[in-house]
Amino acid sequence: MVVDDENPDGHSPALRWPLRSCPCGTASPSTCEATCPPGHMQAGPCGKYSGCITLRHPIDHARRMRHLNAFTATAVLVLLTACASRPVSHPAPALSPAASGWQAAVTAIAAGGDNGGRGQAIVQRLDTLGIDWRRQDFEIDGFRGANLLADIGGPADAPVLLLGAHFDKVDAGDGVTDNASGSAVVLALAERFRQQPLVRHQVAIAFWDLEERGLLGSRAHIAQGSEQPVLYVNFDVFGWGDTLWMMTPDPDSPLTVSTRTAANAAGLGLTTGGQYPPTDHEAFLKAGWPANSYSLVDADEIAGILAMYKGDTPGQVPKVMEVIHSDGDTLAAVDPEAVARGIDVVEVALRNWDAEGGTTGAND
Ligand SMILES: [Zn+2]
Repeated sequence: MVVDDENPDGHSPALRWPLRSCPCGTASPSTCEATCPPGHMQAGPCGKYSGCITLRHPIDHARRMRHLNAFTATAVLVLLTACASRPVSHPAPALSPAASGWQAAVTAIAAGGDNGGRGQAIVQRLDTLGIDWRRQDFEIDGFRGANLLADIGGPADAPVLLLGAHFDKVDAGDGVTDNASGSAVVLALAERFRQQPLVRHQVAIAFWDLEERGLLGSRAHIAQGSEQPVLYVNFDVFGWGDTLWMMTPDPDSPLTVSTRTAANAAGLGLTTGGQYPPTDHEAFLKAGWPANSYSLVDADEIAGILAMYKGDTPGQVPKVMEVIHSDGDTLAAVDPEAVARGIDVVEVALRNWDAEGGTTGAND
């Protein structure tokens, strides 16, 4: 049995991004050992910190529904009044193709239901794109799962850039932000790099199973003797926001620099650093394989997220910590146009990194 450093007693799999947020009443034994009383959520890693903090806006779905119903009734009245005097309709603006494509992929993955169905939705999308894929079955820590892998293309014998995201979810919610969002970003990038390959790298993609059980899919991939990529780039929690949040061990690495340039050019915020919620990039770093990870969030969420992962109580619970691992992790929470901007920036950053040689910085 592999024993995690963060969980040396082997009592339960280390809790991962965002397993440390366990909204009341939705935590199951498989995702969180501690359940907080109504109106609270757990701060800090389960099994490590057991403190419950008060939500500023307690998760009370019955009350939310009453408010929603009252709001809906008011809105209908206002609309009827407006329509009676001015029969002009204003349809919602159509999504851009990139936003629409990402939203369609996220919707399909979420509709898959359990992890097997979510994987099947990804496979169907790969089939539609004409991308050959393969299944990587694994058994680790007493759990069985299956990663999905594919080669996208690039110059023969060129070093491999691996892009990945976990597709599994916890029991609560639809697993949209965590992490159909990141899986759909990888699908979008795969489509782009298939249409226009990188110059100096082959691109491969991976969809990890059982991240929520302790990075099991990514750990198994490495443990099975898979080929080491020149760089692994992870995507987890990429659903809305004005800021790209990049986990990078080296603030001057080529990809960090190219991401900064691309974000600045696009007017997208960027926060970089080594402090970051645990997710699949950690399996790679632990093996000594270079890795980065991207999230998309609002800039003002980041300090609160980090505080909560340290077990501190922020003045305001960030949106992402209320959404993930809760019944609120649905399509309603995400912003496809914001995600499309984030995908564009990451694509430009990776193309520039590739064009300039694509070294990993910290390990070169
Ligand atoms: Zn996740």
